[in-house]
Amino acid sequence: MLKLIHNTKVIFRDEIVDAAVLFSEKIEQVFIDCTPNKISKLKKENKKLEIIDGENNFLSPGFIDIHIHGSAGYDTMDASLESLKNIKNSLIRSGVTSFLATTMTMSRDNIRNALSNVRDLINKKESPGASIIGVHLEGPFISKEFKGCHIAKDIISPDLKLIEEYKDIIKLITIAPELEGIKELINYLKENNIIASAGHTGASYEEVIAAFSQGLSHVTHLFNAMEKLHHREPGLIGAALSTDTTVELIADFIHVHPAVIKIVLQAKNSNDIILVTDAMRAASMEDGEYDLGGQKVIVKEGTARLENGRLAGSVLTLDQAIRNINKISNLPLDKIIKMVTYNPARILGMEDKIGCIKEGNIADFVFLNQDLEVVKVFKGGELEYIK
Ligand code: FE
Repeated sequence: MLKLIHNTKVIFRDEIVDAAVLFSEKIEQVFIDCTPNKISKLKKENKKLEIIDGENNFLSPGFIDIHIHGSAGYDTMDASLESLKNIKNSLIRSGVTSFLATTMTMSRDNIRNALSNVRDLINKKESPGASIIGVHLEGPFISKEFKGCHIAKDIISPDLKLIEEYKDIIKLITIAPELEGIKELINYLKENNIIASAGHTGASYEEVIAAFSQGLSHVTHLFNAMEKLHHREPGLIGAALSTDTTVELIADFIHVHPAVIKIVLQAKNSNDIILVTDAMRAASMEDGEYDLGGQKVIVKEGTARLENGRLAGSVLTLDQAIRNINKISNLPLDKIIKMVTYNPARILGMEDKIGCIKEGNIADFVFLNQDLEVVKVFKGGELEYIK
């Protein structure tokens, strides 16, 4: 059924304009100057047209989270359809309409089970909630020294067989560029259109630059689980900030200090910054004890830590990340929104489907009020959430 949203400030790729959007499952047409006359004319042409008053809210493309383990009590590594369905339903409330289900370093069997489960869900007819558009494989080809909250015993050398089996659903892999055999791995990923991302790594600046020239193109949760920036040993952070590679930022003000986020906003073009949550199952839940990748996690006052005090994912939601960036920067809103919409869609090669409001793209929309709170979410043209 055709619908028209009017009286809304549409967040396009590079500007925010008062406009109206005509859509079914897909975006049919965008009207920049939509007068009451125009609306009655459209209504005359199509008697069933549903008119939706945007109440002067912002209309953003649906958000895309490329690094999210779980939410609402569930985790990708549960390897159950029930878990994925609950994650999908929970994410829609924070404006996320597409995401990469993200794995943890666990045994090969555990990882295979989780991946097969994601594939089953993707192959089934679309269920409600956010869409799973693939997998972010975080580990197991990472550095033991920079494992963060991943389990050391399950970290292994690059194994093309594991990727080969699931190359239809894996879209992004976090790898440590200093590992032996990394050149072959990056070549393979490049041939198969899988994004190679540096993370959980002690790689030197030189190793990272060499890997960039081979096809490494992204950095997983910049600053976390990597060598610190030293002015004579720039490492991955120095390489990320001095080139135009894309970087993930966990903007919860816990994983990265607001001042350091400001440095990133000054050093990098906003087109190359992607906000992620790295959320674990306690996101959108109360404080308490949870698990991540087979380890006990204690969530207290918005921080998730292992028993040894190490950060263990976040309980951030992507809409909160947007508000956080908006609070500390002078960036125009369209540039901040791009960090959770167009930028991730672009690196996944999906910008002609999701991530921007243009004719032909899927009608995934988020209504944001003046405080940038999510008030309504449309997924594939259907209203899925209302505050
Ligand atoms: Fe991580």
